[in-house]
Amino acid sequence: MSYLCPIDLSLLGSHLADGDYRFDVYRGDLEHAQAPGNKWHKLQHHLSAAAQQNADAIATFGGPFSNHLHAFAKTLKNRPFEAVAVVRGELHPQLTPTLQDMVDDGVNLWPSSRSDYRLGTSSDVADAINLYYRNVYWIPEGGGGILGARGCLDWAEKIRRLAGDYDAWVVSAGTGTTAAGLLSYDKTPDLHVFSALKGAQAQRQHIIEQAHLLTNKRVSQKYLAEKLFFHANCHEGGYAKHSQTLVRFMHEFAKDNPSCFLDPVYTCKSMFAVISAMKAGTWPYRRTLFIHTGGLQGWRGFSSDRNPFVLS
Ligand SMILES: *Cc1c(COP(=O)(O)O)cnc(C)c1O
Repeated sequence: MSYLCPIDLSLLGSHLADGDYRFDVYRGDLEHAQAPGNKWHKLQHHLSAAAQQNADAIATFGGPFSNHLHAFAKTLKNRPFEAVAVVRGELHPQLTPTLQDMVDDGVNLWPSSRSDYRLGTSSDVADAINLYYRNVYWIPEGGGGILGARGCLDWAEKIRRLAGDYDAWVVSAGTGTTAAGLLSYDKTPDLHVFSALKGAQAQRQHIIEQAHLLTNKRVSQKYLAEKLFFHANCHEGGYAKHSQTLVRFMHEFAKDNPSCFLDPVYTCKSMFAVISAMKAGTWPYRRTLFIHTGGLQGWRGFSSDRNPFVLS
């Protein structure tokens, strides 16, 4: 199976000659059948740290459709830890498909109020979990932290080995942890990062600082900053929101690229932004690699008539 998939750029119209752009997707969504995408990579060093701590349980946080929680459940299945998840908001008797999968995989769900949830490991629910399970290793929301980023540094090495040379990489961002890991790898080319969040401008500096730590400060922050292109204005209305133009784009993309599904929160927006820049003639690279971060299970949080990638 190849992890590389060329994108059909007929969306760009006929004014572009074939071969002006080479645009491939690294199909992270096809890795690790049970836990595809970036979240598996973000978990690996956290699991080692939990083992080192002799943890009885590993706990983490997420919303009821969270890709992180889903990957957490699949990755911890058949491992010698209790798996515990603090879920944002109350639990309804009819669980979301994501949470149902987690229960089926043996995860203990702990509901929390939104206000308590915001307190993270200082919340009342976290206190209760620490008492109940004794030695608990906590993974930040989204699988973040420096250990999460380190897993994505490993991922960058793998991607480079499998995909070869490109002039630029593209990746989507939520917490920016994945972007930091990719940026810290010395053979990563120009890295374009598209945030799915509204008002994420300040995240750019955080990505640079985290990447800097991962390089053991062997390279300057200035060097990393020159490699990083952070786009905060492609959220199309906000997290998990879809503008009309984005909906139209997704339908066209699905028609032209029937074997490459995009997720509803992250990759659809990054792909839209890059292809729009190519269309406008402002994308300055000839060979671009789009790193697919997975997340397709997230479509289960949308009514199925909104998903242009369902198999017809
Ligand atoms: C979580 C997620 C991201 C964002 O990753 P961060 O490391 O939080 O920036 C991007 N794409 C998909 C599909 C995700 O599930």
